[in-house]
Amino acid sequence: MPTMMVAGNWKMNASTTATAELLEGLNAGVASLPKNTQMVVFPPLPYLAQAQQMLQNSSIVLGAQNVSEQAKGAFTGEVSASMLQDFGVRYVLVGHSERRSLYAESDALVAAKFQAVQAADMVPVLCIGETLGQREQDETLAVVNAQVQAVIDAAGVDALACAVVAYEPVWAIGTGLTASPEQAQAVHAAIRAHVASQNSAVAEGLQILYGGSVSGATAEELFAQADIDGGLVGGASLSAQSFLAIGQAAK
Ligand code: PEP
Repeated sequence: MPTMMVAGNWKMNASTTATAELLEGLNAGVASLPKNTQMVVFPPLPYLAQAQQMLQNSSIVLGAQNVSEQAKGAFTGEVSASMLQDFGVRYVLVGHSERRSLYAESDALVAAKFQAVQAADMVPVLCIGETLGQREQDETLAVVNAQVQAVIDAAGVDALACAVVAYEPVWAIGTGLTASPEQAQAVHAAIRAHVASQNSAVAEGLQILYGGSVSGATAEELFAQADIDGGLVGGASLSAQSFLAIGQAAK
């Protein structure tokens, strides 16, 4: 059972040609990753079928970047959890900071999406993180714990047994700034302690990824921290070489 995860969020970057090239490169290199490491890719929705087909005989797992909280019906432009599941998706991002800030997704909506993903037998990757202003006001732990608690209040703490949490300081996403390993570890440990106060077994088994400008140069030290169980990677997941280099660091 893999204990480390490297997850690649492609955001709104792809084409059929780029998807083919990237997945060919990852398929060729994935066998060289440490045995305890699970690689997951999150292409944009139109490329899921292509990715599913290309990952048929691969250990790389498919994820999706977004989902509707609704099960079906008159919701033009939305995509349901069961549709994602139909295309072989196993992990779904919920609460990414770009969704929270650019599309006004509230904690309540994030919790509803989290539950929709689990209802379709997939694993939500709950993204949480503070803004720079919140960090400067010393509000980091209060913010991330409240984001986790919103899901616990809606779904129950046991729901975290089938979920992944990704701590992504907003100020580090796409900026080239990375939390230091000590800063990241402190927040990860606090998140785990917050969950442990409600269910210690769930907390112990909870995979908590770090995200925010992770690169081949920063990954090893981040992943060596006791409470960091892998990374959610944006920019550096768009090249097979740089994403595989991050995967190599996940020992
Ligand atoms: C992300 O989108 O989740 C992310 C961490 O992006 P980047 O690695 O580019 O900062």
